Amino acid sequence: MKPPPFEYVVADSVDAAVAALAAAGGDGKILAGGQSLMPMLNFRLLRPSVLIDINRIPGLAFIEDTGDAIKVGALTRHHALETSPVIARHFPVLACAMTHVAHLAIRNRGTIAGSLSHADPAAELPMLAVLLDAELVIAAPGGERKVAARDFLVDALTVDLAADELVTAIVLPKLPASTGWGFEEVARRSGDFALAAVAATLTVSGGKIAQARIAMTGVAPTPRRASDAEALLVGKALEPALIDAAIASVRAAAEPATDLHASSDYRRHLVGVLAGRALRTAWRSCGAAA
Ligand SMILES: Cc1cc2nc3c(=O)[nH]c(=O)nc-3n(C[C@H](O)[C@H](O)[C@H](O)COP(=O)(O)OP(=O)(O)OC[C@H]3O[C@@H](n4cnc5c(N)ncnc54)[C@H](O)[C@@H]3O)c2cc1C
Repeated sequence: MKPPPFEYVVADSVDAAVAALAAAGGDGKILAGGQSLMPMLNFRLLRPSVLIDINRIPGLAFIEDTGDAIKVGALTRHHALETSPVIARHFPVLACAMTHVAHLAIRNRGTIAGSLSHADPAAELPMLAVLLDAELVIAAPGGERKVAARDFLVDALTVDLAADELVTAIVLPKLPASTGWGFEEVARRSGDFALAAVAATLTVSGGKIAQARIAMTGVAPTPRRASDAEALLVGKALEPALIDAAIASVRAAAEPATDLHASSDYRRHLVGVLAGRALRTAWRSCGAAA
């Protein structure tokens, strides 16, 4: 399959990219890693008249410690997140999740902002952004705006981004000390999109859970936090009965669909199993378990 014809514009600055989007009058698309956009063009699911290549804009690929947060540039590749010592130190759950995204060749090209803007309902990065309360920095003709990841991800393949807006960075607030994490995913084959995946963090103080975060993907149109399960866990030690209650709550919060790969019932069962495993790992990894 070949893409429909398009005009190709190379932007050399954020302002130039935003101006090119505005000039395209709603018919332009940003080209980042191209790992989702090119298949969409080849299958004729998208027919933009202009592609605006942002790969040569300087200063859009970085991982920077800003004190209480880590700021990641829009063009930062998946493989850079996977191998960054800064990410490994502050967000090992994110580094681990990246190893489940596609294959190395794709991770060498795919970018953090591309994954978030594409918003595949089974993707790992949107789930991690929701887990970590990430905020997206967006350049628009009138200036800059910020939006929380959970508001940005509106629906499957649908985000809160106007036709003339460009994501420039993602801000990840650092986690409290004594935070453990777990990540669990099941896919049909290594490198496939997840049938379901769960990422969890537990912050422990005095042997009790002070803060719990559980995010899931592949089981709803957008990644979501299991807020009721999180609330159940706070103030308690992670005992087996509590894990069972959290699993039931996670399953209740999932809205999985049936497709060629798995039934809704299977995905609902699976997300509970994965949540239980992720919570146990998170509890162990913050040194709370014997
Ligand atoms: C075989 C295969 C397997 C894959 N498996 C997985 C997987 O298991 N898990 C997973 O999460 N992903 C998977 N992917 C997708 C991959 O991670 C993509 O790289 C990613 O989703 C998109 O990133 P990109 O930089 O390539 O974006 P592109 O393809 O360049 O763009 C994607 C969309 O985002 C828009 N966009 C890109 N950058 C910006 C920006 N800065 N501002 C505004 N809009 C922007 C584009 O216009 C386009 O609409 C797979 C891809 C392939 C080809």
